[in-house]
Amino acid sequence: MSGTPGTPAHAGRDGGRRLWNEAVETLSREAIAELQLRRLQYQVRYNYERSPVHRRKFEEAGARPEDIRSLEDFARIPVMTKDEHRRIQEESLERHGSPFTLMACAAPEEIVRINATSGTTGVPTLYTLTAHDVAIVNEMHARKYWRTGIRPGHVMLQALSLSMFTGGLPLSQGIMHMGACVVPVGIEGGTKRVLDIARITRPHAIVATPSFGQYLIEEAPRLTGRPATELGLRWFFCAGEGGGSDPQVRRALAEGFGARVFDHTGGGHAFHGISCEAQDEGCTGMHLVSEDHCLLELVDPGTRAPIALADGAVGEMVFTFLDWRGGPFMRYALGDLLQVRTRPCSCGLPGIRFAILGRADDMLTVKGVNVYPQAIANVIFRLYPRVTGAFRIMLDRPGPKVAPPLRIRIEHGGVGEQDIEALERELTALFRQDLRIRPAFEWLAPGTLPREAGKTRYIEIAAP
Ligand SMILES: [Zn+2]
Repeated sequence: MSGTPGTPAHAGRDGGRRLWNEAVETLSREAIAELQLRRLQYQVRYNYERSPVHRRKFEEAGARPEDIRSLEDFARIPVMTKDEHRRIQEESLERHGSPFTLMACAAPEEIVRINATSGTTGVPTLYTLTAHDVAIVNEMHARKYWRTGIRPGHVMLQALSLSMFTGGLPLSQGIMHMGACVVPVGIEGGTKRVLDIARITRPHAIVATPSFGQYLIEEAPRLTGRPATELGLRWFFCAGEGGGSDPQVRRALAEGFGARVFDHTGGGHAFHGISCEAQDEGCTGMHLVSEDHCLLELVDPGTRAPIALADGAVGEMVFTFLDWRGGPFMRYALGDLLQVRTRPCSCGLPGIRFAILGRADDMLTVKGVNVYPQAIANVIFRLYPRVTGAFRIMLDRPGPKVAPPLRIRIEHGGVGEQDIEALERELTALFRQDLRIRPAFEWLAPGTLPREAGKTRYIEIAAP
């Protein structure tokens, strides 16, 4: 990694290694599977013995921990949803005076941290961690940043909400754990404060939501008199929202800051991933770095039937924490849709990859084929710059069922009439190959569709 821009001269001997934890991060698929099963068998017994909620899940399946001899056996245990988690929390608070009694597996005096989800929809769900669990979270943050070239001596500006958010304090701790320097400015103090602190501390990297990043690019000239490129940032880490997987957003951030852009996920729990600079086969995904502590499964969002983790498979993410003590999640379904890639990535970094395709509620079904708006966006963007990347899925009525053909309004990149025909043929072939559907396209001139700040809505519902 010599010559990596921004690597401090005093990064030391360890600065030369590419991975934070070589031994674990380069395990073969077979070795990972063996480790996961061994840890799973221990974990299910631990969960069963200590939590009435987990025990109930086994009873629903008519199983006991000793019946779990394979992942197929484990897939019989019903999933737990976020709504269910919330209800259990309420029930626990009512009956036992604590939201954790029913779920937590460690004694109260072992719990050292409580994290919460943002709580934008309803009551926040809470996570309890022991010191052992906190150490795992720190390890995962270190694995992610180390892969991108962050080393001791680098300064990272943390410009996310710090209030209870899993990307708040836990992230700070992870950065410190790997020996880099965190400046936890947060966004609560406002944009001007973030820019002032950046000017004084000269960070090499920033962690922020992609929409806040785009806002900084717009506001920096007005508030500081200089473009955002002069902040001197070499890394932009997207967190907290989905935009970091959007190629257009990534390009805007890369150009606006003059930085390398990475998308990453995983706050105060065991599911952690980070993107690389290769974007293979239209997959704008992340490398999963926490397989030794997180068993990932995919299920059909409708029937919850298991879907094999084959290359290109799409399904609702279900995860189970391994070697976890506080509030281990078991077959927990957050409602996120994932596409996995199991073939090796051209970047050479190990591990399977995943792309978050949105929410399970976003799923559309065309002639029995499940289709996801973000997957459509990824296919379309493969033809950039002959297309702008902007498009809308036009529905007569809300999904998931769509009467074929799926109608897509799409902007070309400013090509001639006869080139559109060729473009459409190519796009149709990509849709057939990747998504197994044949949409009807309506071509628009570049800039026709409204651009929205923050999250783009891909679906428009209008009666014909
Ligand atoms: Zn890669």
